[in-house]
Amino acid sequence: MSDVRIGIVGCAGRMGLALIREVINTPNCILVGGSERPDSAAVGRDLGDIAGLELLGYTVTGNSESLFIDADVVLDFTTSTTTVAHAEMAAASRTALVIGTTGLEARHIAALETAAQNTPIMQAANMSLGVNLLVQLTRQVAHILDPDFDIEIIEMHHRYKVDAPSGTALALGRAAAEGRGVELDKVAVRGRDGMPGERQRGDIGFAVLRGGNVVGDHSVMFAADNERIELSHRATDRTIFARGATRAALWTHGKPPSLYSMADVLGFES
Ligand code: NAD
Repeated sequence: MSDVRIGIVGCAGRMGLALIREVINTPNCILVGGSERPDSAAVGRDLGDIAGLELLGYTVTGNSESLFIDADVVLDFTTSTTTVAHAEMAAASRTALVIGTTGLEARHIAALETAAQNTPIMQAANMSLGVNLLVQLTRQVAHILDPDFDIEIIEMHHRYKVDAPSGTALALGRAAAEGRGVELDKVAVRGRDGMPGERQRGDIGFAVLRGGNVVGDHSVMFAADNERIELSHRATDRTIFARGATRAALWTHGKPPSLYSMADVLGFES
């Protein structure tokens, strides 16, 4: 396999730093640069320096566009608006893009689909192998159990997370709804407060917790009278997402233009 040149946008963020460390330690990956917001204090500093490593000889740029020229694949864990701008840059330069940003709305996904007509784009709300397995299991269990089993999805993340429920919790909800052959939007109950009334048969509920430095906990509860099944995943370090993203970068390189998922990367049937 030939080497793949990788750029990281948002390289000084929590995930960006984990990605720097992962990419430089992955065979066949060559880190060729990182970008940040033009007003970020990281601009002008060495990529290795910001990640607590030895100097790597590449400085953080405030101009993401240049990364799309230098790299074969760009990794993007930033914000929804920024991600759409990066997808347009990827389409213009025909550079592959791996997106981990969450909080993407239908209009953002539509913009990614348009960009993916010109270049391969892989997008996943969660890049960990374990969570992607959890999504598959959730779909299967929801398919097997009838709606006498109430489905509740519980997630907890660190105090800095800005979107809720997490992209992963929503992906789990979609998988459960697909398993039951219903649309999530028609059955989702996103947060209860005051007097929401009795739970309706077939509802899929979401509960969100925020606190501390929790990297990401997700549980799917199937609760019937007298028994409960619970599927859970706990992430204790961001390296699992960085590892998945780097694997996705190697997989996406050279693929035809399209919008791909982590199920494609891992070879799961969706
Ligand atoms: P963060 O705030 O620590 O990092 C985001 C970085 O993007 C910041 O450094 C910010 O300055 C930078 N950025 C913003 N606008 C930019 C621009 N225009 N150009 C270049 N850089 C820009 O956040 P984080 O915890 O690293 O998470 C980032 C995103 O990744 C969130 O949406 C989070 O939910 C998601 N995430 C996804 C996964 C996954 O597996 N898919 C895992 C963890 C986090």
